[in-house]
Amino acid sequence: MSTPAETSAVVPTDDTAARADERDALVASIPGLPKVLLHDHLDGGLRPQTMVELAAEVGHQLPAADAEALGSWFYDAASSGTLPLYLETFDHTIAVMQTEEQLRRVARESAIDLAADGVVYAEQRYAPEQHLRNGLTLQQVVDAVQAGFAEGVAEAAAEGRSIRIGTLVTAMRHADRWDEIAELTLANRDNGVVGFDIAGAEDGFPPSRHISAFHTLRDASFPATVHAGEAAGYDSLAEAVHLAGAARIGHGVRLVEDISTDELGDKLGLLAHWVRDRRIPLELCPSSNLQTGGAPSIAEHPVTRLKRLGFAVTVNTDNRLQSRTSLSRELTLLVEQAGWTLDDLRDVAVTAASHTFLHQDERQSLIENVILPAYSAAARPGRHRA
Ligand SMILES: [Zn+2]
Repeated sequence: MSTPAETSAVVPTDDTAARADERDALVASIPGLPKVLLHDHLDGGLRPQTMVELAAEVGHQLPAADAEALGSWFYDAASSGTLPLYLETFDHTIAVMQTEEQLRRVARESAIDLAADGVVYAEQRYAPEQHLRNGLTLQQVVDAVQAGFAEGVAEAAAEGRSIRIGTLVTAMRHADRWDEIAELTLANRDNGVVGFDIAGAEDGFPPSRHISAFHTLRDASFPATVHAGEAAGYDSLAEAVHLAGAARIGHGVRLVEDISTDELGDKLGLLAHWVRDRRIPLELCPSSNLQTGGAPSIAEHPVTRLKRLGFAVTVNTDNRLQSRTSLSRELTLLVEQAGWTLDDLRDVAVTAASHTFLHQDERQSLIENVILPAYSAAARPGRHRA
């Protein structure tokens, strides 16, 4: 015969089981939910098999011979704990993206892969200056990538998947071509390029170094996102926001250094207030930050705290190859390890859509016609019937 204590002990067990079922059902629904991706590098999203084939064609020596082993190598090498080591893995991806054909293939496959993951709108970024070794011009690089995106989008549509891609043109912050790249960006604003970015080693190469490019863009009323608050902290973030006029922050995870906590709760510093008050979105990339030492675990990653505090939080992949991830996987990790719910997933999809570099009417259409109806349907009881 059960004592009352034993009987009551059964109830939480059932609850726990029910919660686990609900969580599993939510995880299973993630790939099918419409998602918006703002921070994804084209040169960090190659299929391992494509790398093997392209490397064989051009005689580039890869650190592993087959796709499976190569995928593991990228993940392990990128997990070495610092941003500079992480960035070294790009030597191999960049090496096989030097002809129009290679660029077109990589862009095409990227669009197809994102669509297959349920991404309905993605902003993909890359640095044209890194693809000139075989004599392509900057404009030829842009044209090849745009052609590949168009092919991938059309192929996905033929399979019943709708995706749209906006291109972000990146200037490498440690190089010296940012003025030229800003001009290239503006010259392609009617050619699918929707924004500008700076990437590469953050520490020691703050946005003030590239200020002329940001002024060129500002004078042309063209938006930029800036990698900041990943490998460097407050000063880099402040420059991104105040000097570069960043419309979004790439990563921004170290903004938590401007938030203290005591017995009265969280206390925001001046910069954290500024970013939150102005709804400057943070393009957070959980797995990538784990690999570069920016966060100890998914459960403790500041993305959840920043979201609870009301920042404009978005969830992103950064580099799908190096992190062996997808947007669905990033969201799954947050559900499984940080307690995220369907409402959280809807919030980040809407926030991301609200801060794309599309025009406001297009953003609104994306939210009202694509995102909200799907998340409302997913929230209805009985949605997870097998
Ligand atoms: Zn990035």
